[in-house]
Amino acid sequence: MNAPVPHVTPLFTQVSYLAAAALFVLSLKWLSAPDTARRGVWAGEIGMLLAIGGTLILPEIQTYQWIILTLLIGTAIGIPIALLMPMTHVPQRTALSHSFGGLAVGVVGTAKYYLWAHQEPERLTHFTMGVLSLEVLLGFLTFTGSLMAFGKLQELLPTRPIVYRGQNVVNLSLLGVAVALGAWLTVDPSRMELFPWFAALSLLFGVLLILPIGGADMPTVISLLNSYAGLSACAMGFVLDNKLLIIAGALDGSSGFILSVIMCRAMNRSFTNVLFGAFGQVKARAAGEEEKRTVRSATAEEAAQILTSASSVVIIPGYGMAVAQAQHKVRELYDALTRRGVDVKFAIHPVAGRMPGHMNVLLAEADIPYDRLFEMDDINPELPHTDVALVIGANDVVNPAARHDKGSPIYGMPIIEADRARTVMVIKRSMNPGFAGIENELYYMDKTLMLFGDAKSFVGEIVKEITSH
Ligand code: NAP
Repeated sequence: MNAPVPHVTPLFTQVSYLAAAALFVLSLKWLSAPDTARRGVWAGEIGMLLAIGGTLILPEIQTYQWIILTLLIGTAIGIPIALLMPMTHVPQRTALSHSFGGLAVGVVGTAKYYLWAHQEPERLTHFTMGVLSLEVLLGFLTFTGSLMAFGKLQELLPTRPIVYRGQNVVNLSLLGVAVALGAWLTVDPSRMELFPWFAALSLLFGVLLILPIGGADMPTVISLLNSYAGLSACAMGFVLDNKLLIIAGALDGSSGFILSVIMCRAMNRSFTNVLFGAFGQVKARAAGEEEKRTVRSATAEEAAQILTSASSVVIIPGYGMAVAQAQHKVRELYDALTRRGVDVKFAIHPVAGRMPGHMNVLLAEADIPYDRLFEMDDINPELPHTDVALVIGANDVVNPAARHDKGSPIYGMPIIEADRARTVMVIKRSMNPGFAGIENELYYMDKTLMLFGDAKSFVGEIVKEITSH
């Protein structure tokens, strides 16, 4: 990082960068299907190892002591995070990783700016300063934004949207000032006194951006922050003239963006609605509404009888299955019913759980055959001819209000149409709402039986009933 060194990239670095770029592309491709996902993870990890190895032998590196120290610190933080945080906390774990990534990018940009402004001002061309400004803006806002997202998901901060009058005007004006300062620095990189303000506004904007967004929208926001982190790394690639960083950042930026679009579509929401809609605010409920309606509940024994006398069962898993870690018991239920000749399928909603692919990962972990998993659009036409829809810890993704209640915050979100099955059974612990914080009329229908209990133990009891007869 210190003295200018003529730029000769060693052959090993060139080859490892090329291989890493190919592996990153393959990794994304393989990660998109459950049966190749493990290979995708390996490809990504090997690619990253090659990228780091190729970078560590660059002649520009004059001393390794700081690199080794920071590598050790990073490892000491990373391993416990990976081992201690459960699967259901993956969104906040991802948010934490993005925040570190954003911080690293912002700090490298800041260091490069001051180094070059003091020692080699000729390197701060308008182009370099422009991408450096973009790098610092996106890096710092990703840092604080991701920390806020982590705090909300971990419930260290209030998960409800924090809103006030004129909030969008304040936020957009602040972003406008930050962008104007970045543009000013791009035109005149020698205005060093502007840089601390520029960096501070970028950090502040990250905090303010997340304040009005509710916990339920955090996974989408995290995916968007992922995209910002990728774009900032891409900008850093231009600043450091590192082609692999440009490729990896562009892949990260575009895949994060595509994922956010997929999630928004699956919830029938627009980007602006997610970012500025303050979704998930507490809604006042009409007095006495709860007392008017009753639900029917059943025991594990009754549920077992209904399931074994059905010829077709569609299981709809949701966040509750993940919390209870019930996937292995669900596998036992699948085996027990299949042995008795019942046709069992799984209906997967794209935003069931708390991250895209959440249900696929859990069911794959329990070795449930992939060909038994059906996407929402494929299973919905079958539900009217299905004997039993068994909902395990899902709530919002089977709420019929999404179809007809224009006042509902989830109106328009495509759902798994469990209510169209002949009989519906729902395993959950109470009448509490799901993440969107709204009631579910499915529970009050005549054809619905509530199976109150923890998903893992209740499914276990049903399996015991089935196998003991
Ligand atoms: P949900 O609406 O959050 O409902 C989960 C249900 O599981 C709750 O009603 C809860 O009821 C039950 N539950 C919790 N712990 C349980 C346990 N140990 N045993 C049995 N039941 C348990 O879940 P969902 O239907 O999967 O919907 C996902 C929500 O997250 C949607 O609103 C979606 O828009 C949002 N979201 C998801 C993503 C994503 O990528 N997946 C992204 C953005 C937003 P009890 O407390 O009564 O047990």
